[in-house]
Amino acid sequence: MRKQSQPLLTAEKVSKLTEDFKKYRSYIACPTKKCAATNMDTNGYTTHQLPKQPRFKCRTCNKGNVNTRTMQQMIQTLVSARHGQEKTMADIVLQN
Ligand SMILES: [Zn+2]
Repeated sequence: MRKQSQPLLTAEKVSKLTEDFKKYRSYIACPTKKCAATNMDTNGYTTHQLPKQPRFKCRTCNKGNVNTRTMQQMIQTLVSARHGQEKTMADIVLQN
């Protein structure tokens, strides 16, 4: 796990995250827990940050805004789960 003291992803990491998001988006659940959708989409970029940090949100409820780092963690959780480790999406949301 990366430390919180590194808030921005490098351009390379952003590029990787964007690829991973496309790959895993059909598994990424809305973080609000109020809608059960797996309909996350990109939502532009944060301003005043370079490299540009993509944002994400749920297209179904129009909420569930997720920043770059949180999305990275959510995807890491998915990838870990696929490798048999026990960690749920709820754990990630609670950490934030
Ligand atoms: Zn939603």
